[in-house]
Amino acid sequence: MEGALTARDRVGIQDFVLLDAFTSESAFLDNLRKRFNENLIYTYIGTLLVSVNPYKELNIYTKKQMDIYMGVNFFELPPHLYALADNAYRTMIMESNNHFILISGESGAGKTEASKKILQFYAVSCPKTKLLDTVRDRLLLSNPVLEAFGNAKTLKNDNSSRFGKYMDIQFDHQGEAVGGHILSYLLEKSRVVHQNHGERNFHIFYQLMEGAEDEMLRWLGLVRDCQKYSYLVQGDCARVSSINDKNDWRTVRKALSVIDISEGEMEHLFGIIASVLHLGNMQFQTDYRGYATLNSNTELHWLSKLLGVPMQVLREGMTHRKIEARAEEVLSPFTVDHAVYARNALAKAIYGRTFTWLVNKINESLANKDSTRKTVIGLLDIYGFEVFNINSFEQFCINYCNEKLQQLFIQLTLKSEQEEYDMEGIEWEPVPFFNNKIICDLVEEKHHGIISVLDEECLRPGEASDLTFLTKLEEKMGSHPHFVTHKLADQKTRKTLQRGDFRLLHYAGEVTYCVVGFLDKNNDLLYRNIKDVMRQSKNSLVKHCFPAVEPDNKKRPETVATQFKSSLMGLTEILTSKEPWYVRCLKPNDAKQPGRFDDVLVRHQVKYLGLMEHLRVRRAGFAYRRRYEVFLQRYKALCPDTWPHWRGDPAEGVQMLVTHLGYRPDEYKMGRTKIFIRHPRTLFATEDAFETC
Ligand code: ADP
Ligand code: MG
Repeated sequence: MEGALTARDRVGIQDFVLLDAFTSESAFLDNLRKRFNENLIYTYIGTLLVSVNPYKELNIYTKKQMDIYMGVNFFELPPHLYALADNAYRTMIMESNNHFILISGESGAGKTEASKKILQFYAVSCPKTKLLDTVRDRLLLSNPVLEAFGNAKTLKNDNSSRFGKYMDIQFDHQGEAVGGHILSYLLEKSRVVHQNHGERNFHIFYQLMEGAEDEMLRWLGLVRDCQKYSYLVQGDCARVSSINDKNDWRTVRKALSVIDISEGEMEHLFGIIASVLHLGNMQFQTDYRGYATLNSNTELHWLSKLLGVPMQVLREGMTHRKIEARAEEVLSPFTVDHAVYARNALAKAIYGRTFTWLVNKINESLANKDSTRKTVIGLLDIYGFEVFNINSFEQFCINYCNEKLQQLFIQLTLKSEQEEYDMEGIEWEPVPFFNNKIICDLVEEKHHGIISVLDEECLRPGEASDLTFLTKLEEKMGSHPHFVTHKLADQKTRKTLQRGDFRLLHYAGEVTYCVVGFLDKNNDLLYRNIKDVMRQSKNSLVKHCFPAVEPDNKKRPETVATQFKSSLMGLTEILTSKEPWYVRCLKPNDAKQPGRFDDVLVRHQVKYLGLMEHLRVRRAGFAYRRRYEVFLQRYKALCPDTWPHWRGDPAEGVQMLVTHLGYRPDEYKMGRTKIFIRHPRTLFATEDAFETC
């Protein structure tokens, strides 16, 4: 007994719900720290999994570990991602319904790693027939491809996801993984043309530079030296010790062919990546009339070759825009600033559209064409909350997205849980929690929210500017408790704000945004004539990315923020139709170092992620609930009084059944339409009895 106590003292408790001390934040933190120091990075709060990034390789993701967790009840083994993945999987099969796993946490907390490990678990452990090996390979190899094109080194994370990803893994009725589908969200395109100090462009550029054969580089007109390319050196860190671009290049090349990208398509693909680099090196000077001309023909030559557009047409497109004057089209020459702007816009557009093409290609290769009914497990891995010294439109979108996911979490757990007890007439002491809906509304509300104000300003070209946007925000949001600017702030706060800033008090902390560039980035304008130029391309991939009829050709295209808002609404809908599972990732320190557990930092995350509230609801509440009819239908064989038929009131039948099974009165409660079971163990025991009966 004493031995057991010591062990428990050392390794902490694996489910916070069982933490017998008064559930204080300190006790919570102590438990996490204890476990972290023993390399036990996973802990449960009921069925929610808390994970602390170890920042070192742990020997817990082997095939052997997968086998151990496959098909074993949740609480019988130490907490693990695999247990959660397995539990979701088995519930899906048993109940024939759809699930999703929401992985959240701030940038660098371990979301992407977790999502990869879950995918590996399904790909390796699920039953398989020889035929479906390709599906599994493709599911797995879609990751390195998307990471190469969509991830980059930032100050927070050497492999930071710069797009949001939702992936459905489809299973047939035998539980085999038979297909998949990916939705991607708002890629941070601005990174293509600009990187802050200490950050890089997307990995693929460096992989190409390091890994491609000499012959290929020659064909692309590139030299093997990142320093020569203006789009690669702004962050001044082309090399990163934790990244092996050369190896990654090989992986990506292989992966591309597994997902069915032909050699021809690959040529086009890398041609486009190279053309982005050439665009970056294109420089302009002012001619005697004050207009932009190209400094040299070198880049133009390569661009013309790689993009499949005649040099002359391209030159004109890069230095002029077409304007309509009295039903006539005239060419208006650019100033140098304008030309640089148009050049960057083209680079971003080409890259962004190619990324979309790539996601579509992956989806084609993952598509399962047979029409039998399938169930899915969705994996959501999105960019985490982030705060830099200077935050711009990109951080605004990313942090807004995190607000939405937190809102969904609150809706699905804290709120609906408590509402359900209420509705079912279960006696309940409400647990108060901070509802971040107020911040979501501040950002997205129709006509009043920040996005609306931003869009309004984007509709007044020539008159509006980033600063008029800020002034309008001040007028509209004035007294909002989560919004402040230099002008609105009290004296003390004012000192911490610049005139061009606004600050949002997010659920995860305050972030100060600099308005510079908001209008431009939200408009994401690409001049029409440059689009026309691209449409003439002989390169099939470029042509595909710039179709003759664009959906947005006639009416004004939606702004970036509004598109993003709609896509997040779509995502919320997708998720709310499925059964949720949660992985909450925590970052133990800001230095990306193993073995360091920074109390203040972790405490802050525990707080804003609402883990304490979640624990309180869990402790006081019920882990499982089933409608009486469903419960009875499944387990009626376990009691002679309910077998083979129970003709009376289902609630009475269930009462009869659980009394017969010996449920203690504090283990369950009877609601209006459902039975509530306090601990999963109780249900597992019943399930085991059912399987052996
Ligand atoms: P996020 O997606 O939350 O921004 P990542 O999943 O990319 O963060 O993790 C950042 C880094 O932390 C990874 O590149 C890896 O080095 C390390 N890491 C994260 N999770 C684990 C883990 N379970 N085991 C070992 N290292 C990890
Ligand atoms: Mg990530």
